[in-house]
Amino acid sequence: MTAPWTASWTEVADRVLVLRHPGLDVTSTLVIGQSAALVCDTLSSERQAAALKAAAERVTSAPLLVLNTHHHFDHTFGNAAVATSADTVWGHVRCAEILREHASRIAHEAAVEFPALAVEIAGTEILPPGREIHDAADLDLGGRTVQLRYFGRAHTDNDVVALVPDAGVTVAGDLVEVGAPPAFGDAWPLEWAPTLGSVLAAAEGTGCGTVFVPGHGDPVGAGFVWTQHAELAELEWLCREGHADGAPPAEVAARSPFGPGPSLVAVRRAYADLDGHL
Ligand SMILES: [Zn+2]
Repeated sequence: MTAPWTASWTEVADRVLVLRHPGLDVTSTLVIGQSAALVCDTLSSERQAAALKAAAERVTSAPLLVLNTHHHFDHTFGNAAVATSADTVWGHVRCAEILREHASRIAHEAAVEFPALAVEIAGTEILPPGREIHDAADLDLGGRTVQLRYFGRAHTDNDVVALVPDAGVTVAGDLVEVGAPPAFGDAWPLEWAPTLGSVLAAAEGTGCGTVFVPGHGDPVGAGFVWTQHAELAELEWLCREGHADGAPPAEVAARSPFGPGPSLVAVRRAYADLDGHL
């Protein structure tokens, strides 16, 4: 067991606070309204989330709602510790479905990949979202509304962003990666750039393009996200050309802006997609 984590928030815009957890550097966001507060992403375990909830209750007495930006364990496994019931947990319909049907497999894989977390993951109750988003849902937090939107497949098939128009903030989840390459293990590499383009357009259209909160790392501005969008578009076209030319995936990955290792996963998934079996 590591030492207890003392969570501390950084206010990145009016009553929008972020908190970075040291382990996997997941960034959780708290949007505070007059009648409710929204916690975006609940970390990797009940233990981590208990600290997250305590940190939220230090800065607001409003009831807590939860958004899962996508189904990955480091964004969802703390749900039961933060939420009073599934009725207060929002997520894409596929996020809920995957957590309902595959929670034990995901927990097993997470424990194998991150042995230091194995014990606390094993003791964690998995609570899938009970409020399912197809394309859009608006949350009234009292005096401010958060727009939950699905723009298409990208990092997973269930990435939801939270737009906070009165604060100029977009909570992007793992659609935007800061400090590490995008993670392609469950990704749709041919669709990520177009989806992120839609996110950028919606953020600009709603006045939410000042601050982007990534799933991991520090918040960034729109310039960073446009650059990542261009790199994802470059990778997409490398994959399309490589597939058409019959180029080996490793050769294509070596030319990717994200480096050969992380990109090899992306190229293999893109090829499978183009072959019709992803
Ligand atoms: Zn993820």
